[in-house]
Amino acid sequence: MKLLGDYHTHTTLSDGHSLLEDNVKSAVNKGILQLAITDHSFSHMAHGITREKFEEQKKEINELKSKYSNIQILHGVESNLMSLEGDIDVKQNERENFDILVVGYHYTYKPLSFKNFFNFWLPSVLHITTKKRVQKNTMAYINAMQKNDIDILAHLNYGIKVDPVQIAKVAKEKEVYIELNAKHLGFSDKQLLEMVETGVKFIIDSDAHYCENIAKNNMAFAAIERLNIPKTQVVNLNDFPKFKNYNKDKKY
Ligand SMILES: [Zn+2]
Ligand SMILES: [Zn+2]
Repeated sequence: MKLLGDYHTHTTLSDGHSLLEDNVKSAVNKGILQLAITDHSFSHMAHGITREKFEEQKKEINELKSKYSNIQILHGVESNLMSLEGDIDVKQNERENFDILVVGYHYTYKPLSFKNFFNFWLPSVLHITTKKRVQKNTMAYINAMQKNDIDILAHLNYGIKVDPVQIAKVAKEKEVYIELNAKHLGFSDKQLLEMVETGVKFIIDSDAHYCENIAKNNMAFAAIERLNIPKTQVVNLNDFPKFKNYNKDKKY
């Protein structure tokens, strides 16, 4: 199985270990045709990219685009899901400025308020997995999709437990891709098959923090084979994805 693109990768501007250009070189060597750079966004306490660096990164990407004409480089961010209401750390007016919005939960996000600390940050850090909490977490992702123009939901079930099938139903409606992440593939086979039934589209990402890991994802490849997931439902095995700010004319 071969990917056409990898849409979730990190550089030294967040917690990645490779320079942006090394990510691009590695992607070119692997023969993929699109690469997105998606560092952790602004409220990630330890490793978030600053807004200033994000602008510098954009300039660097624009320069690299002319140097590497055989690959399309997309600029994006991995934003933090930060509340039960679906808040993320990218403002509405910033959304226009980049190509691809990946959203994931990380316990390292900076709590928004006292209330947010107690109703979302702390229960998540304590790994509370009661039915009620799982439903709240599920609604947090659904609210995030209703509120924001999200392209990819990253590593569901990593950090907080959710019902991925409920999320998949809304993701299909909102044309959001569900990620099959190389390191955190948090779905049971049963859940994956039920998600397939919803008609949602998956996207395979490496979440590479080292450039050599770009386009690698053996866990996703194995799950697709094992469960006979239709390849037509995994967007980057066939085609370039449609993102809300890039390739808008493509079909979901
Ligand atoms: Zn992540
Ligand atoms: Zn990541």
